Amino acid sequence: MPDLPHTLWAAMRRGIKGRCPRCGGAPLFAKFLKPVPRCALCGQDWSLHAADDFPPYVAIIVTGHVMAPALIVLGAATVIPLWATMTLAVTMAVAMLLTLLQPAKGAIIALQWWMGMAGFAQRPGKIEAGVK
Ligand SMILES: [Zn+2]
Repeated sequence: MPDLPHTLWAAMRRGIKGRCPRCGGAPLFAKFLKPVPRCALCGQDWSLHAADDFPPYVAIIVTGHVMAPALIVLGAATVIPLWATMTLAVTMAVAMLLTLLQPAKGAIIALQWWMGMAGFAQRPGKIEAGVK
């Protein structure tokens, strides 16, 4: 029996860490943003998710809220040339987006699984969607 999470937040924490939200024991991702078809430990079918564009939206919102004050501070610093400010800002934004994309996708997949959304919706005759 897998170690099922007791709360939505516990499942999302596992997804953020790139672990299977259901059991927490196996990797969730086969590639950078491609989930494994099935969990190697608990057998949960992760191909049922429909995260679509939501993880990039989350990453963009978080990056924007962090970058806005940083840009204000950088813009107020008159000793830094404009080209250096722009280079630093773009580098920071791209780095933050790339860092946040996989954790955001893991969290969204966990959210969908926990809430029974998309392909994880309960079907008649199934105790838990997506598990063989
Ligand atoms: Zn699992």
